[in-house]
Amino acid sequence: MKTYKIASIPADGIGPEVIAAGLQALEALARRDGGFQFDVTEFDWSSDRYKKTGALMPEDGPEQLKAYDAIFFGAVGAPDVPDHVTLWGLRLPICQGFDQYANVRPTKILPGIQSPLAGVGPGDLDWVIVRENSEGEYSGHGGRAHKGLPEEVGTEVAIFTRVGVTRIMRYAFRLAQSRPRKLLTVVTKSNAQRHGMVMWDEIAAEVSKEFPDVTWDKMLVDAMTVRMVKNPQGLDTIVATNLHADILSDLAGALAGSLGVAPTGNIDPERRFPSMFEPIHGSAFDITGKGIANPVATFWTAAQMLDHLGEPAAAERLMRAVEKVCADGVLTPDVGGSATTQQVTDAVIDAIRGEN
Ligand code: ATP
Ligand code: MG
Repeated sequence: MKTYKIASIPADGIGPEVIAAGLQALEALARRDGGFQFDVTEFDWSSDRYKKTGALMPEDGPEQLKAYDAIFFGAVGAPDVPDHVTLWGLRLPICQGFDQYANVRPTKILPGIQSPLAGVGPGDLDWVIVRENSEGEYSGHGGRAHKGLPEEVGTEVAIFTRVGVTRIMRYAFRLAQSRPRKLLTVVTKSNAQRHGMVMWDEIAAEVSKEFPDVTWDKMLVDAMTVRMVKNPQGLDTIVATNLHADILSDLAGALAGSLGVAPTGNIDPERRFPSMFEPIHGSAFDITGKGIANPVATFWTAAQMLDHLGEPAAAERLMRAVEKVCADGVLTPDVGGSATTQQVTDAVIDAIRGEN
């Protein structure tokens, strides 16, 4: 029997609640399948740890994680710790240290969940957004001159490298090729930004030659927001820069009904290091401890993790179970229901067990 070593980092707020739900579902899948099992190690790296010790994780944290097949991450962030401390103290060192350059965000409307778009339901919106996760607008380069003076200048430098753009483009084309519609939209802003963005367009055209069976087009990011709202059926796989995809995937999550159902995988496609799977939402302290956090995003990212581990049948079984439970109306309050996290989790486990 195969054993997958999973590092679980529940962290802050509703993170521990949704990760507990996700682990229960993974256990049920392993029992149902019989061909694999999980060896889960929990790490207490969090804002609480920061408040006690001055660091969210130990200095050799990333080194400790290298021994695992995947990282299952909850959410980080606390009201009394600055955002840049939590972000740079835990998630970013892992993403960057493990060169998880492909941030993959599937979005679709699940049955039973209402999109804010009138007349748009399951089947009308089924996208995967690929976000460049290692460079671009969030490179950290730039600065401020003449700080505080009337002539102050602030710069924020977006860095795009040929290596970085080519590898994310290739990942996106390959992903598009693996999906039934074989359709890719490359998003840039190359009319107004005439250096790095024009390079994106050129590299897209070059890489497209390796994938003659993929239909692709280019969109400017502003027009893309309109297209996502007006014609969601016309899109499938989408690739964009760190900043653009950050914004587009929040829009996508809202169009799919709630942040509580949006998953993400931070993937090292070359598999040199473990990849990290997490719900897109944050720690949501407003609902922490109430037992009503939506676990669906975490189930979905667990399915992404199973796929990455090489268990696509289990991933599909989990998603079928989630879709059944949503269709049955077992929903948390953020998507219009009155079920608790545990009730949704129990229903998903029942569906996993009951399925032939
Ligand atoms: P962070 O600062 O870590 O980003 P946050 O408090 O801003 O956390 P988010 O997770 O970004 O919260 O989400 C914003 C709001 O969306 C939350 O306050 C919460 O009400 C709702 N929300 C987010 N995730 C979930 C979920 N899994 N289930 C239910 N509601 C959620
Ligand atoms: Mg937030």
